[in-house]
Amino acid sequence: MKAKFFAALLCLCVVLAAACGTPDGLDREALNPACPPGLGRGLLDDGFLGPDDERGGPAVRKLLRNPDFGASSEAAEDLRGGVVDPRLVETLRTVTERHRICVDVFKEGHFFVQGVEDGPRIPDGYGEAGGLPNTHFFGRAADIRYVDGEPVEGNGLSPEVLDVGRVLADIPGQNRPDQIIGPGDWTRELGFGYEEGWILYKDQLDLHNKHLHLGYIRENGTRNTR
Ligand SMILES: [Zn+2]
Repeated sequence: MKAKFFAALLCLCVVLAAACGTPDGLDREALNPACPPGLGRGLLDDGFLGPDDERGGPAVRKLLRNPDFGASSEAAEDLRGGVVDPRLVETLRTVTERHRICVDVFKEGHFFVQGVEDGPRIPDGYGEAGGLPNTHFFGRAADIRYVDGEPVEGNGLSPEVLDVGRVLADIPGQNRPDQIIGPGDWTRELGFGYEEGWILYKDQLDLHNKHLHLGYIRENGTRNTR
């Protein structure tokens, strides 16, 4: 009787292990995808990076295959099309070492003001930043909207979203984005400033209460001094 019981128990364990195992990370992704359903790849979206899609170069392909990185279809297409600055690709990869992130936009589909098409300069009406160069337009900016499955909006003080800021701060100044903008509480709690690449203007913090913006102002190098 006892033997039968253990045999049944063993069977149950085998079945459970088969159902819950994560040999390839896909189950983990299904439970807690980088982007929420409807944004970015789902398990059924095999067009996200098909086996014969070799565009974008090795770093981009690696990022797109990383289950800790999620992207909207526009953002993934910008990556595959070579639109995104390699420094930004590397920074996002660095963040995924500790966190699961969802980028909803690089260049395609970005707009500062509803109904106004993006160009090389920020349009008037976007806080006080009108007239400044638009880093999204040049493929040098990313907006992270979800961290570890939670929206940035309303979670500026969550340990995960705060830690993304600390991961960024650990990147050497010459590689770190020099246009880091996020929610006001996130920015204040982290305490970094202009020297480290953080933007502190109140109008910009107010405009970034739902996402983290990482940008490189210049084509080469950064203005970070720390
Ligand atoms: Zn942005």
